[in-house]
Amino acid sequence: RFAYDEKLPEIVKGDNVRLSQIITNLLGNAIKFTEHGYVEMSVRSKGVENNNHTIFVRIKDTGIGIPEDKLKYIFEGFSQAHSSRKFGGTGLGLAISKKLLDLMGSDIHVDSKPGYGSTFSFTLVLPESTLAEAASGTVKKDWSRDFEPLDIKILLVDDNEVNQIVATNFLKQWGVKTDKAYDGKEAIELIKSKSYQAVLMDLHMPEVNGYDASRLIRSMDDPYFRKVAIIALTASATTDVKEKVLEAGMNDYLSKPFQPDELYFKIKQYTDKVSHPSLVPHGSEHEIMIEDNVGSLASDSSKMNILDPEKFNEYTMGIREVKRETAEAFLRLTPQILNVIREAAVKGDGENVKQHVHKLKSSVSIFCNENFSETVASIEKEAAQAGEDSCNRKIFSMIDDVEKLMDEVSLYLKADN
Ligand code: ADP
Repeated sequence: RFAYDEKLPEIVKGDNVRLSQIITNLLGNAIKFTEHGYVEMSVRSKGVENNNHTIFVRIKDTGIGIPEDKLKYIFEGFSQAHSSRKFGGTGLGLAISKKLLDLMGSDIHVDSKPGYGSTFSFTLVLPESTLAEAASGTVKKDWSRDFEPLDIKILLVDDNEVNQIVATNFLKQWGVKTDKAYDGKEAIELIKSKSYQAVLMDLHMPEVNGYDASRLIRSMDDPYFRKVAIIALTASATTDVKEKVLEAGMNDYLSKPFQPDELYFKIKQYTDKVSHPSLVPHGSEHEIMIEDNVGSLASDSSKMNILDPEKFNEYTMGIREVKRETAEAFLRLTPQILNVIREAAVKGDGENVKQHVHKLKSSVSIFCNENFSETVASIEKEAAQAGEDSCNRKIFSMIDDVEKLMDEVSLYLKADN
């Protein structure tokens, strides 16, 4: 449900990137935690003074609610009031939203009762603007200027918050409307209720993974479910993965982290056409393969920088806030993953090492040089040997390097301020 106050002006001046991130996150949560009833977003005017409008935004749901003793923690990074196994997510969304609102001089409020639902709200004071002003103020980055806008709506399915932030910001620059889902189950629910031109589908996710979700979508009744383009997002584009992607009914794949132009053209390629291409595997002009690099571990990265500032800049479009958000999510998310890898390596739990190194791989690659990306990729491949001395030595050295990378990212952020 959506309620919009007629008294509000059509255009106000504000930070649309941050604001849409906050709203997407609150709505995403409301939908995620509501099985029955409704989710309602309302935007109301609370008065005008000298052209400045006080705008009250409220997102209310009738979902499972949040226990009182958890309410004060949910805005802290990595805090989840419900089992993350079932709902997925990272526990970062609200922390980021709170920080973004803080930067805009506002605060977020929550009111919730288990079994009845939750209401999140915030107030912003924004000046009214004109169309001309809005048009002149928003053209700022090459990525939006150099590419013709794509007037489409896509569903982005990924359980990694860092990847979500990076992808959403690019898509926004190109005018693409994006809904986010954090696992296959959520993706299926969304795709059933809305119409998208394309789905960007991560493969490894909690509950329902990308392959199963795609198969399920393709098997649904309406022709729409067979036509909608599904592009896999994979951190390991090996021949095996590519085959499985096509077998599961997806049209194509993109290696993560993707090059912005590649993302753009892939989406355009599949959404441009009136009739969609068949689902038969086709030769792609951009065959991306992570090179086999067993043995490249010898490179001693401890003496050089692991951070590749240019690459990081490229993935974040050189926008300071996007850089900060991405880096903050990375810095918060990573220690937990490293802990799991460390413990699993000690226990010789290869499966767990593999799973978490895989998780690490795509977010690390947004920041680090190629050499280190390759090191992480090769450890993922060798993970079955976890517990053996030689393998564990490589794993611990990689953990040290990721910690070094985190330090470099923090320093970079400080210098960039
Ligand atoms: P994530 O959704 O990735 O876990 P968030 O920071 O967005 O992270 O949310 C933190 C936690 O707050 C969630 O895991 C959930 O337990 C709780 N939460 C947030 N929004 C809602 C909501 N609308 N209804 C119930 N619980 C919520």
